[in-house]
Order: sequence, then C-alpha cells, then structure tokens
Amino acid sequence: MTVIHKAAKDWKVDPNFVDYEGTRRGFDWSSAPDVCAGMGPGACNIAYAAVDRHQDGPAASRTALRFVSALDTDGAVATRDMSYGELGRLTRQFTNVLRSLAIGRGDRVFTLMGRTPELYISIMGALRNGSVVSPLFSAFGPEPIATRLSIGECDVLITTKAIFRKKLAKIRDQLTSVRHILVVDDTVDNDAARGTLNFWHLMDKADDNAPIEPTTADDPALLHFTSGTTGTPKGALHVHGAVQMHYLTGLYALDLHPEDIYWCTADPGWVTGMSYGVISPLLHGVTSIVDEAEFDATRWYTILQSQGVSVWYTAPTAIRMLIKAGPELAAQFTFPHLRFIASVGEPLNAEAVWWGQRVLGLPIHDNWWQTETGGIMIANTPAFDIKPGSMGRPLPGIDACVVRHRDDGSVSVIDEPDVEGELALKLGWPSMFREYLHQEDRYRKCFTDGLYLTGDLVKRDSDGYFWFVGRADDVIKSAGHLIGPFEVENALTDHPAVAEAAVIGKPDPTVGEVVKAFVTLKDGFSADDELRLDVLGHARKHLGAAVAPKEIEFVDSLPHTRSGKIMRRLLKARELGLPEGDISTVETMAETHAPAVSS
Ligand code: ATP
Ligand code: MG
Repeated sequence: MTVIHKAAKDWKVDPNFVDYEGTRRGFDWSSAPDVCAGMGPGACNIAYAAVDRHQDGPAASRTALRFVSALDTDGAVATRDMSYGELGRLTRQFTNVLRSLAIGRGDRVFTLMGRTPELYISIMGALRNGSVVSPLFSAFGPEPIATRLSIGECDVLITTKAIFRKKLAKIRDQLTSVRHILVVDDTVDNDAARGTLNFWHLMDKADDNAPIEPTTADDPALLHFTSGTTGTPKGALHVHGAVQMHYLTGLYALDLHPEDIYWCTADPGWVTGMSYGVISPLLHGVTSIVDEAEFDATRWYTILQSQGVSVWYTAPTAIRMLIKAGPELAAQFTFPHLRFIASVGEPLNAEAVWWGQRVLGLPIHDNWWQTETGGIMIANTPAFDIKPGSMGRPLPGIDACVVRHRDDGSVSVIDEPDVEGELALKLGWPSMFREYLHQEDRYRKCFTDGLYLTGDLVKRDSDGYFWFVGRADDVIKSAGHLIGPFEVENALTDHPAVAEAAVIGKPDPTVGEVVKAFVTLKDGFSADDELRLDVLGHARKHLGAAVAPKEIEFVDSLPHTRSGKIMRRLLKARELGLPEGDISTVETMAETHAPAVSS
C-alpha cells in the first residue's frame, strides 16, 4: 500500500490537528470549545457564533465573503468584498425585516437564489431571528420547488425577480403556506395580490440594532433536503447545536486558520455548501471565496490562482472534470498559496488523490459525511498519513464501526478488519439530524442499539482507515459475491482513456446479477470496439473475471444529481425500462458539462 506521508508535506503553517490518537483519547463533547459561550448560559445560535461574535473583535474589518462575478477573457476577476462588520450590520437589519413581517422563532424561511450577497444576509438574519432556514438550489424547476416548499411548510421565500417570473408566478396559488415572497431586485414593487415584497426596500427601512433570539442548542435551525441519489429527497432537520461540529471540523478536517483564503465550491442549497461554504468559514473568521458562476475548468484554475486560495474544499465530480480538461490547461497556472485540499460527496479514487499531488502540488484529502450527519465524520486530516482511495479515519468525538445485520433486525459490530458491512456511527455528536420531515418511521429505522445506520457499505482496515464500498442500495449480487460498485468503477477510471464510470447490476437468470458499466471517455479517445476490449481486459486484470464488468457501454455523459453525484438508480431504471422515480435533483442535459458541484 502506497501512502502519502504527512511528514513529507510542506504544511506552510502549523496544522491545527497533529496528534490523532491523543486528541481522540482526551476528547469529550461536553468540554469541547463552545463558540456560543458569549451568548449567556444555555443559549446557542449559529449566527451568534458566525457573525455576532466577530463584531467587536479583530475579524470585524476582515473580508468575510469575496463574491467573484465576472471573469474577463484575459483572466481579470471582478470581485466584491463584504467584511464581517458589514455582514453583521446587514444581518441585523434582515432580522428586523423578518420581525416587521411577524416572522419569528421556528418559522420557516426558504432561500431560492444564486450565490449573491442577499443569500448570505438572508441565511444569517433568519438564523439570528430563531427562524428555520431551508436553502434551495436555484436551478430547481417549478415542481421540485413547490414540493419542497410544501413539505417544509415555508412561511417566507426569498428569491430573485428572474426566478419569480420564470418559475414561481404560475404556481404562486399552490404555495399556500407561503406568507411572503421577498424579491431581491431594485425594480420590483410590492405586490399585495401576489404577496411579494421588495427585499431591499424592506432592508432600507430596517434598523441595524436587533437583539439576537436566545435559541438553545436543541432548537431547530436548518432544514436540508438530501441529494436524491438513491430515491426521493428527504428533508433533514438540524439544530443550532450543530455549530459546535461546524467549528471543530473546520479546525480538524479543513485546517482553517483565520488568515486563510478559503473556497468551498458547493452551493449552499446542499448541506456541504451550508455547513462548510457558509457557517464553518465564518466561525473561523476566514475570507471565503464565493463564485457566482458554475463550473468551468479555466475559470476555476483562474480563481484558485488569482485569489490566492489557501484551503480548497471541492468534490470528486469537479476533480474528474479538471482531470478530463487535461494537464496542459493546469500547467498554465501556479498555486503557491494553496496548502490544503479536501473533497467530499462521492468516493475519491486513488488516482485523483495522486493527480492532486502531481498537478496541484498537494494530495486531496477525502472526507465522508451525509446530509443527516450535519458535519464531517470521517476524514483524511493533517494528523496522519493519507492512504489514497480511503476516506480516512473518524474525527475526534466520532465513533464509527462496521456492522452486520442479523435476521432478527438487530446488528452486530464486526471487529475483524477488512470485512465489508454497513457503516454505523455511535450517537452523541452535536450536528446529528433530529427528524426526517413527515417521515417518522423512516427516521426511526435509521437507529438501533445507540447507533445511527448510514446506508453506506464500507471496510475498516487494521490501521482504522475506512474504505468506501458502495451504497447499500447499489451493491451488486453476482454468483454469490457482493460487489461494491466503487471497486469496479475505481479499476475502470484507472484506465488512461476513462474519464468517469458507473456500474449497475443487471438481472441475470444464472448468476442473479451481472455487472454492467457505463463509461465516459477523456477527450481525444474514440469509443470503438478495440478500446472497449482494452478497458474490459484492464478491468479483468485488476478485478478478476467474477467482479469485472461483463458489459461496457460508452456514453457521452452520465446522469448526475445537481450536487454532482452519479445517479446509478437512474442508469439501472433506464437499462431495465423501469420508471425513473424522483428525478427532481437530476441535472438537465444542458447542465451536464457544467454541473453545480457540491456535497
Ligand atoms: P439521498 O439520501 O437522497 O439518496 P445522498 O445520500 O446522495 O442522497 P447526501 O446526504 O448529499 O445525499 O450524500 C451523502 C452520501 O454521499 C453518503 O451517504 C455517501 O453515500 C456519499 N458520500 C459522501 N462522501 C463520500 C466519500 N468521501 N466517499 C464515498 N461516498 C461519499
Ligand atoms: Mg443519503
């Protein structure tokens, strides 16, 4: 096993997290740093820790958010900076806007807009007000929007004029729970019939003195819809106490230091974009880059270089697209400030970790978590060596294990290393979700014997590193073997011509299921029979005939969720001619080559 030794890396600044075993051993959530301590006994509010806490400190004049809008063809970048002080003032004003509309504690405030200043002001102002924030991805069409607003019982929606006209005007009557729609545009007048109000007119009238709502750690704060990779998206409710996790994981897994220029590429419409694109960087007082546009390889390299990004949190799908764009493009840029890269959302194959090392000069630290867990659980960190292809080790305060299901419905923990089973987490961390909205049964089924069952299959090696095998729903049963899709996809993407691969189990009368692979090719390779045989041969050599795909289909693109994940269930449904199920989060064809990359 080749590892990337932590000692071999020039960290540039001393990492926050150096002693893995010692920190874990001495860790206790009850004595972990309390970022809400200044609020008074028992009180906790994410916005206090992210914004209020910085108002009189050294961060007040520091840039909190740097919005990158246009990018000229000559690479010049147009930015607009917002300091912690300014964000604080606008946030307090927005708290007063909500109060003037009689929106209070526990009321639901949804956002539906691009990554512009109003999004961040709305999120923080609503949290300060004790309202529950639910960010929606702005590219959703009318139907997924209406469904989520209805499931989430939205009271206030904040959106833009263009989105309102295009997607909401026609369905306004269906949105029965929505009391007000705040429209972010100078040219919109209040319209009582439609219940629309002008965001900035209300802001102009609002005072910037607003006491924070004294919520507690157990009060609901955020409602996130899952990515819909395996089925209909679920609404997961999170509490203000999650802020402790957002802070510590920023420290341990992202190595945030106050002087960092940090870029999380996820949209706040997904949990990664909220936990690590909005909350965690503000807690740490860093400067966050907010790119208002979608993925484009040249644009992204330009931003990394021109903004001097030091910590970068992105996703495998983006990394695969950068790899596909070729080394020549990357070679036109240098990244002297970059010192830490992390990735989440899907398995990161070993080759991608090495690509980071070769092309960006740094390995990529994969980490694992879910909408439900609210924060990073298992990660590659500066405190230990990286085993490329592994998702790392559980963070301090997190106990992870591998379990096997018994016939009576209970589970047993698998102690031996390298045995496949479901990843389970011992309950007790603060950012655990508290509810699947309107799905109590489903929520209850996630728990047994003090454990949360994640639905993902993994192996743990003898050094305590976790290796992703596949989602329980995607595992293929062939001739008595259980085949994890990631292992097969990993072997396929190791082939020099393969850009992306997804495998499914196809029913077979003899062996139960056979492995079928869908493969996209890197630029410059042509999809012919010779290449197909070569890729098949490569897979057989690495995996053996029992596990290697029996069939390979070259495709132009794979279906992804808008958060960047490959949707194997859709490939399977299409292959078998079955109904496609909930496709509200699937990228449309037009977006296929420039997806919004996130969790
Ligand atoms: P849904 O639950 O609606 O099907 P989803 O599970 O994709 O969607 P998210 O909560 O956004 O929704 O994603 C969490 C899942 O993403 C994890 O359960 C896991 O399957 C996958 N994942 C996240 N990070 C990693 C990683 N580092 N390696 C492998 N898989 C990962
Ligand atoms: Mg899930």
